[in-house]
Amino acid sequence: MLNTTEVNKWKKKLPLIENMIHHEEVLWLNPLIESTATGLRKTSVTLADVQDASDRLKRFAPYIECVFPETKKSNGIIESPLTSIPQMKEAIGSEYKTLISGKLLLKQDNALPISGSIKARGGIYEILKHAETLAIEHRLITPEGNYAKFAEPEFKNLFAKHKIAVGSTGNLGLSIGIMSAKLGFNVTVHMSADAKQWKKDLLREKGVAVVEYAEDYSKAVEEGRRQADAEPSCHFVDDENSRDLFLGYAVAGERVATQLKERDTVVDEDHPLFVYLPCGVGGGPGGVAFGLKLAFGDNVYCFFAEPTHSPSMMLGMITGLHDRIAVQDFGLDNKTAADGLAVSTASGFVGKTMEPLLSGCYTIADSTMFHLLKLLADTEDIRLEPSALAGMTGPVNVIRDNVKDANSANATHLVWATGGSMVPESEMALYYGMARK
Ligand SMILES: *Cc1c(COP(=O)(O)O)cnc(C)c1O
Repeated sequence: MLNTTEVNKWKKKLPLIENMIHHEEVLWLNPLIESTATGLRKTSVTLADVQDASDRLKRFAPYIECVFPETKKSNGIIESPLTSIPQMKEAIGSEYKTLISGKLLLKQDNALPISGSIKARGGIYEILKHAETLAIEHRLITPEGNYAKFAEPEFKNLFAKHKIAVGSTGNLGLSIGIMSAKLGFNVTVHMSADAKQWKKDLLREKGVAVVEYAEDYSKAVEEGRRQADAEPSCHFVDDENSRDLFLGYAVAGERVATQLKERDTVVDEDHPLFVYLPCGVGGGPGGVAFGLKLAFGDNVYCFFAEPTHSPSMMLGMITGLHDRIAVQDFGLDNKTAADGLAVSTASGFVGKTMEPLLSGCYTIADSTMFHLLKLLADTEDIRLEPSALAGMTGPVNVIRDNVKDANSANATHLVWATGGSMVPESEMALYYGMARK
């Protein structure tokens, strides 16, 4: 915890913090960004690591296709559509009096198969990797074998003797729980107070043990980690420090590159790509941004978006204190309807990895997210959960701030929609109704 003297010192040094304390929507441009080549040299994660993750997901594709038939049309590859949203672009232009000259695209992770959020990338990857490690150790498979075998009883019998645990605000729990239960693991999800009831119900239906905490996300993670540490056969999915989660997310970079190519959208020195990613603990947006930097280098500009009440990554980045501060240190309450982003301390691993690669961070009020939720439903008939709208003010923010090339007609703005398709209809109707008239 920072004391009052330290908080006052930071406020004096960085006046933007004063605005953040008053819950204002702010944009911060990262002064520590470097060329992509230099930035990548400073990290312990490499292109080879991401390729290894991509190859592993390909090995598992026959299994995924077999146990999740909704992935048949993509041959067992878990991927989401990239959608042009011209009506939304027009609506944003008139509502925010800010014309977007370039293209506006939506990366629809809300429609990812299996768990309907960005967590279907990293979360599922980490469980598959753990299952593969165990299966190879027990000589049930080799990397050259047919992974459809993972659906066979001898694999399930092996995994039933192993435990998996995770702490989650909801969506990570869904992804880890569904995938682990499908493979046959004994899985426990530790959930924070802000996790939605329907998520707990859905997990219990699938045979997942759910432990509930009255406190926020950090407490659920801490307790989950403590209980898992006491059991040698338990694998704890560490949202705050996991390299595997990060690598699973990072595979998105090459996938988006292919999708942009398929739609003849050029990204080069004269055609910049701006990407806006909702940020909670940081693994999802950090991994995706990392993968995008590998794919597009200096021609992609990545921004993290957080609720005005929970800007943990932004505070960690601008002070350089990363996971050594919590939003509560600055008098913020971490209360937001964007439950996927309700995180009081961000990942230090992600913050430090992204320090030389991230273009900036901004905040968004809950009321703005609800307003945009309704606007997107009305204009494009796409329904997202509140967290997933955080990226949508990105183009307006960078254009208004006169960020270089942001208002070029050659620019592509890609808003990462992080979740929504699992939300029950009744819940979605409540979200829709939250938009102010
Ligand atoms: C988890 C989540 C995020 C952010 O991912 P982190 O890895 O926590 O930063 C954003 N949107 C939704 C819907 C999420 O579930």
